[in-house]
Amino acid sequence: MNIHEYQAKAVLREFGVPVPRGVPAFTVDEAIKGAEELGGPVWVVKAQIHAGGRGKAGGVKVVKSIDDVKKESTRILGSTLVTHQTGPKGKQVNRLYIEEGSAIDKEFYLSALVDRETSRVAFVVSTEGGMDIEQVAHDTPDKIVSFSVDPATGLMPHHSRAVAQALKLTGDLAKQIGDILPKLYAAFIAKDMSMLEINPLVVTKDAKIVCLDAKVDFDNNALYRHADVMALRDITEEDDKEVEASKYDLNYIALDGQIGCMVNGAGLAMASMDIIKLYGMEPANFLDVGGSATKEKVTAAFKIITSDPNVKGILVNIFGGIMKCDVIAEGVVAAVKEVGLKVPLVVRLEGTNVELGKKIIKESGLNVTSGDDLDDAAQKIVKAVKEAA
Ligand code: ADP
Ligand code: MG
Repeated sequence: MNIHEYQAKAVLREFGVPVPRGVPAFTVDEAIKGAEELGGPVWVVKAQIHAGGRGKAGGVKVVKSIDDVKKESTRILGSTLVTHQTGPKGKQVNRLYIEEGSAIDKEFYLSALVDRETSRVAFVVSTEGGMDIEQVAHDTPDKIVSFSVDPATGLMPHHSRAVAQALKLTGDLAKQIGDILPKLYAAFIAKDMSMLEINPLVVTKDAKIVCLDAKVDFDNNALYRHADVMALRDITEEDDKEVEASKYDLNYIALDGQIGCMVNGAGLAMASMDIIKLYGMEPANFLDVGGSATKEKVTAAFKIITSDPNVKGILVNIFGGIMKCDVIAEGVVAAVKEVGLKVPLVVRLEGTNVELGKKIIKESGLNVTSGDDLDDAAQKIVKAVKEAA
């Protein structure tokens, strides 16, 4: 789960990490009031969307008067920002963050993430802050330093020394980074983050290290133990269909293909997506209804798929292990009766109660094609969609 920059900074502040003072605003009036509270003389008006690259897209403006706070807030609030992370459709700005302006001397890059290879939290630092880190990694890999932290010892002084050296910080600045780094690590662990990116981490002209931007991603599987984090969720930033799916505890991810898939089990879902591609089309989504789906869950899943205008055909691919085929069949029939079916549907059932499942579909009188196996089902749905086009 992602949160906004101002929320991420509030979380970091709790752990004693230095971040600039700022006030979130939902209206231009709140922005002006916030700016007056902060006092100036320099403010930054920052669009709050769940995507980076705002600066280059005009979503971060440094201003020197309340009049300009008003002007920029009016311009940014409600506008649609297109950055390299939003996709071409962009994202509408519904919140602003009014922040005190920092006089920047140097900008660095720092991030922490869960490294699956080492099963540890890994840090990545670079002197090349404020830039696209993928580009830096590609063009000048020697400017990137990374290390991972042993969970048994936690963050150690030698890690801080390595970071200070990588960023060429000495004296008091090295001391400051030695203070900040363990706090970032503590926040990361305590809040079950999966990613924390500070880009840029800056040295100000008065020699203070400050986090000027903050992007945090949390591990969804650990959210149940962080009610405070859950409260920060902004569903207006999320895909409508994904929000609906999360209500029913479905693992759903919207994709841009034409064939909607309903599958039980992540492995089977991946295999189904692969085989659709093999036969020349693209999946419209990843959807795993899970091993213990109920009829209601299946109905909800089906509705989510059919509500996507890109879906030109549906493939239901179920292996009945814990899940019973007749339950899936009932769910599919109920859903089709409720929402109608405007596109071809191929159902492949295998496993527990398969005969009963097939019977339910057959006797429903609905226009459903059945697939004998994964291969056959994939070929049938691709063919049906091509013929209908
Ligand atoms: P994004 O990564 O989405 O472009 P940032 O928060 O990193 O947004 O802001 C872009 C740039 O704007 C930063 O690299 C920095 O140069 C400048 N900036 C951001 N916040 C401040 C601030 N509080 N004071 C001064 N400059 C800032
Ligand atoms: Mg940034």
